[in-house]
Amino acid sequence: MGLIGAVEAGGTKFICAVGTAHDQILARETIETTNPEHTLAQCVAFFKKGATEFGEIKKLGVAAFGPLDLKQGSPTYGALLNTPKPGWSGFNMPKFFQENLGFRCHIDTDVNAAVLAEVTWGAAQGCSSAVYVTIGTGIGAGVYLNGKLLHGLIHPEIGHIAVPRAEDDGVFAGVCPFHGDCLEGLASGPAVQERWGQGAATLPQGHDAWKFEAYYLAQLCRTITLAISPERIILGGGLMAHQTLIRLVHFQFDRLLGDYLPVSERAGGLEKYIVRESFKGVSGLAGAFALAGEAMI
Ligand code: ZN
Repeated sequence: MGLIGAVEAGGTKFICAVGTAHDQILARETIETTNPEHTLAQCVAFFKKGATEFGEIKKLGVAAFGPLDLKQGSPTYGALLNTPKPGWSGFNMPKFFQENLGFRCHIDTDVNAAVLAEVTWGAAQGCSSAVYVTIGTGIGAGVYLNGKLLHGLIHPEIGHIAVPRAEDDGVFAGVCPFHGDCLEGLASGPAVQERWGQGAATLPQGHDAWKFEAYYLAQLCRTITLAISPERIILGGGLMAHQTLIRLVHFQFDRLLGDYLPVSERAGGLEKYIVRESFKGVSGLAGAFALAGEAMI
């Protein structure tokens, strides 16, 4: 098998790796995200050095922050759409990599890449449909449906759905600059920080924060179930590091669904339907390897 290059392109850092698979990495480097030319020139230098040391790299997978133009046939396929990051709007990463490295580049959103990694090697192996959700600085989801990553008009942004307020949660305005109290505005890491005056990592077990968090994530899982009917929902990102949160989500989900669908029975238990991620902290990088392997474009 040939060597693969992988890039997790994030808003604060790029992680580059060379290897034969996500768990067979030969070299890895973290590069600070500055302007596109400067950041990507360092990535190109890393891959050229990797090719010299380890042999020919056949293809590159890029799991990127978005929003991205992923419309097949678009003249700007792979380019970033409007992003608040200075200099990045309209920049075409796969084009830059192909021109400077000479091998094919496969790009998708970091969350779509993550769900592909879960389907290929992780918690959704054997599933023809699955949804991966990251709950951290933002809330984003990748959707794998009938054996393909879902893009549609742009790509799903399930983190911004509207959610009904919990009964005893009527004051907090939410932190989403676009929608205020959408899901991301109420349940992302910055929302937790703003509402409780401390980050999720320091909130003790039993704190009210977890009750609200579970309620809103269960609303998300209910919407995903009703709208998409995936075979598995995978929850990841920094907030899911809280050990008991997944069990609270199961409890709330069961209550919210109200016996409308036999989800638990079909899935063999809610603990098998809504699960934690397999590649904690490296889901994007694992996803980049999966993208390259899949040759999606
Ligand atoms: Zn929003």
